Amino acid sequence: MIHIYTGNGKGKTTAGIGLAVRAAGSGLKVFIGQFLKKNDCGELKILRSIKNITIEQFGLDCQIKKQFTERDKLKAEQSLLKIEGIIVGGKYDVIILDEIIVCVALGLLKKDRIIKIMKSYPAKIELIMTGRNACQSIIKYADLVSEVKERKHYFQKGLIARKGIEF
Ligand code: ATP
Ligand code: MG
Repeated sequence: MIHIYTGNGKGKTTAGIGLAVRAAGSGLKVFIGQFLKKNDCGELKILRSIKNITIEQFGLDCQIKKQFTERDKLKAEQSLLKIEGIIVGGKYDVIILDEIIVCVALGLLKKDRIIKIMKSYPAKIELIMTGRNACQSIIKYADLVSEVKERKHYFQKGLIARKGIEF
């Protein structure tokens, strides 16, 4: 099954991580690929210490929402190639691609490439993709789409992202 966790509210990445922990705890093999991230976010070390979870970051030189370069684009494409290898490799039961939807929304990855993966995706593997601004054409090929809607957020009060809570 293919899941998409999108929307402008808080909880997309943490939902993916929660599913990873649940799946690993049930004996499933999990791969987590974090696009656009190359920092020591709170989940990184603890997830690495969990048997059955492999996590890799595909961070770019650019930061989220900032101007990206051709090199960033190439790196995102190379990361996707690696993901395709992991999918066909058949070693994992659950594959989580955090912020991959944002890469499409920013123009770093072509939506047609993602749709191609979704169309040929092996049914026995669970695929979870997260990130705000999922486009309709990608949503069309998903089996589950959860949209987290922001009703209130303390960022509106000027609070900045906090280690351990937002990253
Ligand atoms: P979580 O990781 O807590 O589950 P999420 O994955 O739903 O949240 P994203 O949309 O991926 O959240 O946002 C990633 C990060 O971008 C946030 O943790 C925060 O640091 C920053 N961010 C998101 N929305 C805002 C905002 N309105 N103002 C400032 N920073 C924001
Ligand atoms: Mg996120």
